[in-house]
Amino acid sequence: MIKEILTYDIYSDDNPAVLQEKCRLVNDFQSQETKQCIEDLNDTLDELIKTEGNKRGAIGLSANQIGYDLAMSAVTLGDQRYMLINPKLIKENGKERLFRIGCFSLYKYRAMVRYNDEVVISYYDEDGNKKELSLQGDRSCVVQHEMDHLVGDLLFERLEHKKEDLFVPRESLYKDGSIPPENHGPLFEENRKKGLNKVMDAPTYYSSLFNDYSDYVSLTEKTAKERKELLDMIIRHTPANARILEADESTSVLSVYLNKNGYRNDACIFDPDMKDLDERINAQNKTAVNYHSGNITRLPFSDKTFETIFSYGILETLDDEKLSLALKEGLRIADIYIFEVPTIDFSGNTLKGNERLRDRESWENQLSQMSLKIIEVKEKDGFLIFAVKSE
Ligand SMILES: [Zn+2]
Repeated sequence: MIKEILTYDIYSDDNPAVLQEKCRLVNDFQSQETKQCIEDLNDTLDELIKTEGNKRGAIGLSANQIGYDLAMSAVTLGDQRYMLINPKLIKENGKERLFRIGCFSLYKYRAMVRYNDEVVISYYDEDGNKKELSLQGDRSCVVQHEMDHLVGDLLFERLEHKKEDLFVPRESLYKDGSIPPENHGPLFEENRKKGLNKVMDAPTYYSSLFNDYSDYVSLTEKTAKERKELLDMIIRHTPANARILEADESTSVLSVYLNKNGYRNDACIFDPDMKDLDERINAQNKTAVNYHSGNITRLPFSDKTFETIFSYGILETLDDEKLSLALKEGLRIADIYIFEVPTIDFSGNTLKGNERLRDRESWENQLSQMSLKIIEVKEKDGFLIFAVKSE
């Protein structure tokens, strides 16, 4: 039977206990309860794959997510289904990697979480036979996540900050039309009618923006031309030999451009799916930008590592609370934060719908409420560019 999936609300203290407790080990493989749980897990996961797909080739669901207090998870790896009963980690290679992960019980959110890249587990199949399974990459991540469920951890144990480390990804904002109203820009409805607010993962989105996608040298030049005012402001406020960080969820082509022009660059990207593409852009341009994965509200650097941090295409998608955290964090690791945001006059076709389009006055008020000093501001063609410091 297809069961309802229990969900966890991070803002509530009243969440299903079964999601947060260690599950009982299965010791009777023939019991009615065990058989029913196996059947329901299979049916429910089948239904999830039908509606959600299995893009990464690995997807799973655990018994407590459908209300059973039993240590078993159903996972589909490639096109093979495994019922992992009483799974146990028996070997790990010790190499951890950051994975972007979602969970059906936290359906709106994603998080960047560390898991072992390669593990071996033991488990019992539905007939009670003991087996082993070697797993790598996404498969390793998905199975470790399901095993976390069975000890009552949704993924919070792997996060430093329960709320701050979760993020709502662009692609899921649109699934049920549930962009929070405060994040609707004035053009949201209009763009939706035109079909501009589409569900797209970042690499698809960027490949749709740049026709000549395989020529990353031209792409870099083209983007640098379009973002000339932003680059000029960065260069104006950054001494020669200074270190610059680009904090971004898109391609880091501006970092590549700055690097070509003699700046020491790092780029921190928030969508790890973009990392491969960024590295190819770097390689074709023969540049040496260092890439890091991170979170805009918690950057993986110590205080004042950089002179300048810059962003575009991201701060306008954050609510007030996250915006404040992001700017504060940027100014912890750098002296000056330079960023570009679209305004209510923006008329391009690259909006995704979760942007908050605001005028200059509204941005200036917000920045002063956050006790930030505006060093320079420039408005051009539907964009605002700010350089700010801590007061
Ligand atoms: Zn999960």
